[in-house]
Amino acid sequence: MSEVVIIGGGPVGLYLAALLLQRGVSVTVLEQRTAPEPNSRAIGIHPPALEALSRIGVAQKLVRRGVPIRRGLALSRGAALAEMSFAEVSERFPFVLSLPQDSTESVLEDRVRGLDPYALRRGVRVTGLHDNGGHATVEACVAKEQERISAPLVIAADGVRSAARMALGAPLRRRDYPDRYLMGDFADSTAFGSDAALFLAGDGIVESFPLPGQRRRWVVRRGPADDGGADDAAGLDAGWLAREVRRRTGIDVDAGSNSMLSGFGVRARLVRRMVFGRGILIGDAAHEISPIGGQGMSLGWLDALALAPLVPALLAGSRDGLAAFERNRLREAGRAARQSEINMALGRPLHGGLLAVRNGAITAVAAVPAANRLVARRFTMQ
Ligand SMILES: Cc1cc2nc3c(=O)[nH]c(=O)nc-3n(C[C@H](O)[C@H](O)[C@H](O)COP(=O)(O)OP(=O)(O)OC[C@H]3O[C@@H](n4cnc5c(N)ncnc54)[C@H](O)[C@@H]3O)c2cc1C
Repeated sequence: MSEVVIIGGGPVGLYLAALLLQRGVSVTVLEQRTAPEPNSRAIGIHPPALEALSRIGVAQKLVRRGVPIRRGLALSRGAALAEMSFAEVSERFPFVLSLPQDSTESVLEDRVRGLDPYALRRGVRVTGLHDNGGHATVEACVAKEQERISAPLVIAADGVRSAARMALGAPLRRRDYPDRYLMGDFADSTAFGSDAALFLAGDGIVESFPLPGQRRRWVVRRGPADDGGADDAAGLDAGWLAREVRRRTGIDVDAGSNSMLSGFGVRARLVRRMVFGRGILIGDAAHEISPIGGQGMSLGWLDALALAPLVPALLAGSRDGLAAFERNRLREAGRAARQSEINMALGRPLHGGLLAVRNGAITAVAAVPAANRLVARRFTMQ
């Protein structure tokens, strides 16, 4: 029996496993997927997360594989409105790292396997979780067979549809937003290099981020007339995305070079508690926030970083520090959710005079060095 069972071998579960194994805690990670998910999804890794990742010795490896974004540009109708440098946000990592999530997860999985080749169990789908007082028991389905796995502590990092969260009956704060986006990865046809570019177009924002291998991610805010109102891609294709980028920014994107296309709506789900006896929720299982701003994955890693030092004492029967952990992490999740609301609001459609006022205000704020530095720090989760 392992001392800690982690439900979910996504970025947060794998990172926590590496932290605990480094501390000499025995860990089993239960992951329903039989193979890693080959999808770029989250690409932004913020400086505090890179600091956190350096604790398990993978930050430099990730930096070598990714693209450090050192500058963000805001543009409108081909003209630069504002420029934000990340040079002063961190001494060690003065950038936001862009790296597709499948690459990040593969580095984390290698690190976990290096520490304990048997820690990660794939093909195990958790269906239930009970706290029996003396230990917690996970019910799981493995190759169509039921299995019960017990441990003194179970930490769930099983994502936005967390089965553990449901089993624990965790109360949620919910919020749904009107914003919907279509994003896709394409060959990079721009001259932006490693810069991020935000186009504040009247019909809604277009965001563009560098990816490794001379590729670029484009994210377009969809309007109500763009599809039937569904959250997913709803029949929109790479051709629609390329046409919309062209219409709103004047930039040509080669639709034929598309390698990933994903449509999504935005909702927030924040648990009111993370700690339930011998079960603890972290990562997206505890807080789903808007992908706009790209803070979700970093937030989950910082949950794990805060929790890991408490685990040896927890295993020895002391719950010291747990209440403060929960309070601080819920506060940070609320803060990240509010930041992502600001990011979304800035990208909503505006026309005529209102568009000019908003864009003028962005230029004015960015021109004040202290304000520009503050926004850069907020944008990079500091
Ligand atoms: C379109 C999009 C773009 C995004 N962009 C960014 C970005 O740029 N930057 C950023 O920081 N975040 C971004 N995010 C959010 C980011 O992807 C998540 O915050 C991050 O993946 C959360 O990690 P996690 O480990 O908590 O959960 P997940 O990545 O969801 O991992 C959960 C794991 O648990 C497993 N699992 C689930 N249920 C069970 C079960 N019952 N039994 C066993 N295993 C189970 C899953 O298979 C999965 O591997 C984006 C999200 C989306 C959808």
